[in-house]
Formats: sequence, structure tokens, C-alpha cells
Amino acid sequence: VLISFEGLDGAGKTTQMNLLEEWLQSQGVSYLRTREPGGSPLGVEIRRLLLNRPDLHISPLAEALLFQADRAQHFAEVILPALDEGKVIVSDRCFDSSIAYQGAARGVGEQLVEDLSLLATQGHQPNLTIMLDLPPEKVQQRTNLAVDQSGMRTEQSHFDRETETFHRTLREAFLTLARRYPQRIKVLDASRTPEVIQREIQGHVERLLAA
Ligand code: C5P
Ligand code: MG
Repeated sequence: VLISFEGLDGAGKTTQMNLLEEWLQSQGVSYLRTREPGGSPLGVEIRRLLLNRPDLHISPLAEALLFQADRAQHFAEVILPALDEGKVIVSDRCFDSSIAYQGAARGVGEQLVEDLSLLATQGHQPNLTIMLDLPPEKVQQRTNLAVDQSGMRTEQSHFDRETETFHRTLREAFLTLARRYPQRIKVLDASRTPEVIQREIQGHVERLLAA
């Protein structure tokens, strides 16, 4: 099965994926942790272009297509073979991010990006999407904190300069997707403690694996 984690930067995806990984290990589940963009060797190169090259002035449509190229390779080379082996795949972002970021926030169009996504995944979709939801003000606080503590960011990009309006659009797009696909997408209030959130995630994963 394929499980994706979605949400704004700073919502706690990494923390929750780390906790879920520990739990899957303790349960003896054979799993694969991966991410978009950057889940394949080609994807690592595409990720570098997307995140570290503001000098390239990548257009919104070109950006959307680069994310889809990353995804096509990711599914062909990594996800589909792992699904065939019966693994549980946990991906840090999948195409809901593209629909929200490129489709809604950058104006490429949500339906177009969704269609392109299904082309890239060969029609496959996550079986479960954990959407960590946080009000944009709190997201800003958390990401600022992350910058302060480390003194610098590892990945410099135009994504760092996004405004609160951008984040509101993103969040709205994520919540709209969740309303459209309530079976697949579970919205979790990410302002609670990591332990409480993790217990809820494990509940969803347990139900999925038992089904
Ligand atoms: O999830 P991760 O932190 O790896 O994403 C790296 C950056 O790329 C983030 O700043 C995120 O906002 C951005 N991104 C994007 N469109 C996507 C996926 C990620 O703009 N489809
Ligand atoms: Mg992150």
C-alpha cells in the first residue's frame, strides 16, 4: 500500500514520519520511506533544479512539469516495484502537493495538475493520505524557528519567501481536496502534541493494513 504525508512546510511531516517509521519497524512491517520531489536518482537532480536554482526563473508551468517528471520516474522506478513486492510505502508528499502548490498557489490549474499527476503515476493513487493541517500563522512561526535554531537553511530557494496569502491558498486547496476525497485523505489537526497526532496516524494505518 502507498501512504502519503501532506501539509504545509512546518506542519510536522518529518517528525510524524519518523515516529511512524519507528512504529512500523516495531511491528515488523516491511516498508519503504521515500519522498517527492527527490525519490529517485533522476528526482534528486530535478529536486536540485527546483529548490536550489532561483537563477533559472522556472515558469509555473515548467515547474509543474518538472514535478511531474520527478513523479513519473518515482512511480516507475521506486513505488510501483515496491507495491509489487507488497511493501508499505510511506512518501513525504505526493501529488496532492502538486495540486495545491503548482495547481492552486502558482495558478497552473488544479484540474490540469490532477490530470497530469494521474498520467505520471500511471493511474495509481495513495491508499491513505495523512494531511497535517495547521493555520498559516503557526506554519510561519515554526519555519522561522527552524531557521533561527540552525542559523541557516540547508536548501535556499524561492519557496522560502512565500507570503501568508500563499499559505492560505495552499491550505484551502489541501482542505478542498480532503473534502473531495474523504475516504483517502485524513485531515489531522497538527497543532496538537506529536504523540497525540502519531496515535491517530497509527490508527488510520492499522485500519488500512487490516483491510
Ligand atoms: O517537502 P519538502 O520540504 O521536501 O519540500 C521542499 C520545498 O518544495 C518546500 O518548500 C515545498 O513548499 C516545496 N514544494 C512545492 N511544490 C510541491 C512540493 C514541494 O513547491 N509539489
Ligand atoms: Mg519538510
